[in-house]
Amino acid sequence: MKIYFIKASSGSDYSKYKAETGGPPQNIFSAAAATPAHHEVQMTDETIGMKTDFDTDADVVVIFMSTPDAYRAYEISNTFHEKGKIILLGGLHTKFNQQEAAGYAHALIIGEVENYWEKLLSDIESGTIQPVYESQEAFDLAKLNPYPTNIIPPSKYNHTWSVVVTRGCPFKCNFCLVPKFFDSFQLRPIPNIVDELWHLKKLGVEWVELHSDNLTHNKAYAMELFAAIAPIGLKFFGETTVLIARDEELLLAARQAGLKAALLGIETPSVEALKAQKKAFVKPNKMKEAIAIIKKYDIEVWGDFLFGFDEHTPDIFRETLTFIKDINVDRVIPHFMIPFPGSENFMQLDKNGQILTKDWSLYDGSHAVYRPKNMSAKELEDGIEWIWNKTSSLSEKLKYWF
Ligand code: SF4
Repeated sequence: MKIYFIKASSGSDYSKYKAETGGPPQNIFSAAAATPAHHEVQMTDETIGMKTDFDTDADVVVIFMSTPDAYRAYEISNTFHEKGKIILLGGLHTKFNQQEAAGYAHALIIGEVENYWEKLLSDIESGTIQPVYESQEAFDLAKLNPYPTNIIPPSKYNHTWSVVVTRGCPFKCNFCLVPKFFDSFQLRPIPNIVDELWHLKKLGVEWVELHSDNLTHNKAYAMELFAAIAPIGLKFFGETTVLIARDEELLLAARQAGLKAALLGIETPSVEALKAQKKAFVKPNKMKEAIAIIKKYDIEVWGDFLFGFDEHTPDIFRETLTFIKDINVDRVIPHFMIPFPGSENFMQLDKNGQILTKDWSLYDGSHAVYRPKNMSAKELEDGIEWIWNKTSSLSEKLKYWF
């Protein structure tokens, strides 16, 4: 069979965020990597401006979507339905909106596809496709194949690539979908990562995202990983928590490995909001010192900041700006807290009648889609605009994160 993987994009700020942060999207690449070699694979990533090939001769079309891209995914699906293709829908939005998505697909693919992918493909071949395929357990990352580099090459991502290191996160912050999507925190065997990195180096890749939502949570693993990848001589960036600053041995190993930047979810100077979001391990009063320690090891700190928690009043924008200047991050990523369906925050806001719209196209990081308790939606939108302007010299103006 020929299988066509598409990452749908509505061309919103979300797409720009994805394009600017570089690296291939996990979902289409992991599904392509899991596809047995006797099938033919075609891929389109609309987030980087690739055009979907509606004249494809593929038998099966697999569309992955996040919430702001849902309507674009349905539009693609409708067009391929008319052409008689088998349509599969996956991605975060599918998992948390199954009833809605079911109207646009022959089957929904939920959770980590590797656990059922071959069975699903053989069901299609035998004409016994089921309406839903769902992963029931964490996928063993020892079985993860490297992402293909010969279909959409690294040059399409400015020679930046992404290599899976872990999946899941041991924390459960209310605004985040990671712990809702992955059942547990899984580590990939280090030799597999090293092999993939050497291959990428030969291809001319320059920057690699060590893909993880919490790169240094397991110190022993992180130390072994850093020691193993140091000889490769690539430049890395990755996401972790500010807790990395507690351990200078780890920071030294990270620098020696080539880690040039760490993305940290600093979120807000509001202790009350951090507590309410189950992220109280972030201590605003210790942030300045923590960032100074990380930067001592020549690792840039990219800080992610969220606005619109119920504990925030209109003063939060000025307060955060003062905080940002004080703690001295290298790049500022300020954006709306987007209550994605499936998150604790969405459920809570919906229950309280604070959700203003379920037009998913507006969940794109440019609109207030709910009314926070202590400010109006307009105050939230104006405040975000103000902080984007005030931090533009430091900022990537990226408006979306999950
Ligand atoms: S926000 Fe970060 S630390 Fe919190 S659950 Fe999500 S990935 Fe984990």
